Amino acid sequence: MENAKIVVLGGGPAGGAAALGLKALGYTVSVVADPRPFKAVEGISERVVEGLRNAGFKYALANLPEPSPRLASWNGATSSANTEMLIKRSELDSGILQDLRAAEVQVIEGRIGKIKRRDNGYAIELKDTDNTEIQADFLVEARGRSAPGGGLERLRGSETVSLLQYWQGKPCKPQSAAESFEDGWAWMAAWSDGTRYLQLTLDVASAELPDKAQLVDHCTAILRTLPSAQPFLEDAEPTGILHARTSTPILCREAVGDNWIRVGDAAMAVDPLSGNGIFQALSSALQAPAVINTLITMPERVGLAKQFYQQRVDHLFYRFARIGRDFYGSEERWWDNPFWSTRRNWPDSEPLHQDTDPDSLQVVSMPVVNNGLIEEQEVVITNDQPLGIWHLNGIPMAPVVKALQSRKFGESIAECLEPLGLSNQLQQGMERWLLQNHWLHR
Ligand code: FAD
Repeated sequence: MENAKIVVLGGGPAGGAAALGLKALGYTVSVVADPRPFKAVEGISERVVEGLRNAGFKYALANLPEPSPRLASWNGATSSANTEMLIKRSELDSGILQDLRAAEVQVIEGRIGKIKRRDNGYAIELKDTDNTEIQADFLVEARGRSAPGGGLERLRGSETVSLLQYWQGKPCKPQSAAESFEDGWAWMAAWSDGTRYLQLTLDVASAELPDKAQLVDHCTAILRTLPSAQPFLEDAEPTGILHARTSTPILCREAVGDNWIRVGDAAMAVDPLSGNGIFQALSSALQAPAVINTLITMPERVGLAKQFYQQRVDHLFYRFARIGRDFYGSEERWWDNPFWSTRRNWPDSEPLHQDTDPDSLQVVSMPVVNNGLIEEQEVVITNDQPLGIWHLNGIPMAPVVKALQSRKFGESIAECLEPLGLSNQLQQGMERWLLQNHWLHR
């Protein structure tokens, strides 16, 4: 199967990053992409830009705007310390397809219909065509939140909806603002041409939304009560229709099979409150090529590759779900309102970070990625790093911890690490790091 035909379903950041990674490993990849049916606007940080750059995107980053000021109003306190880049997703997504074509990834524009299992592969039907079918040996599901569940077990947070509207007003300085209110939170953005984008995120079960015909008025009434929304509403009017986007956090409990994998939001989608969704989508997509390469070329490591991938998807999801939980918990004004009470208690009560106890360090065998493949290696796990640390600045950590654990009474750290043959400088740097990160008793 080394010349396997891999088809990526969906050409967003995750599908694009997975396709570029697979192409770099020498695979024949096609991406089937259909632009999203609504105009989305998102705010991205420098971290997202870095993630996109690391994934190999160039055209997608070609026309990024300068960061603009972002006002945040939460729990009654207002801060204007942050900035973000306001992007029109249609522009980012078309840049991604341009990058794919430049890397000689085949891009098939069209809407995916039914997917049928065939012998050892799949036949993908394209909608609105004369029975066009695309054959694939391996499928990468990257259709974001709209990817079909396929009967797989999924963990869902409180059902959440984001209602989006465009308004048009006078030209103004680009800016954005986020504000919490009794039933949810709002995110607003304005461009220099006067276009404004207003997004309300609400609890599906308790929001008591009116009929579609009254939704714009309902959202407008909420926005009029928010102090930070006023500059966005001033001399402006709603244009076009309102669009509802589901924003429930979802984790796919089985994100990888023998000849398929889910990446990006199709594997795990986080609460948009984090403003980091693209970054998280890239995280799984960047790990997928090595996992796919292993599944295709090393059948004896299938279990290891699946373990590697699912652990990372689960870990990332819980990390961001807990960050969200703690942030919702920091809004204390509407403690009993279902929007806030459900979110500040989900997904669990585990702390975001566990303290590292030097006595809890363990050396275990775990899957790691090496040279485009998943393999088993000795790594160090701690309470806070359950996925294990293999190397630090190029130094394998398992031998370091083994040396520390067999340290003799009265032996200095330098003497204990001496058999590892580190230069003086590396050894001193390592000692500092071990102390700072609580891997050593002071
Ligand atoms: P997507 O970007 O959703 O890409 C999937 C692609 O598949 C799309 O192009 C879609 O059109 C295509 N597709 C779907 N079905 C088919 C089909 N049948 N046939 C062909 N193609 C298909 N993230 C941020 O970083 N900053 C933000 O400010 C931010 N705000 C958000 C606000 C809301 C309300 C929501 C819901 C999310 C927000 N996110 C934000 C998250 C971000 O949008 C996603 O995490 C990210 O886009 C996921 O990338 P992806 O490639 O997995 O999926």
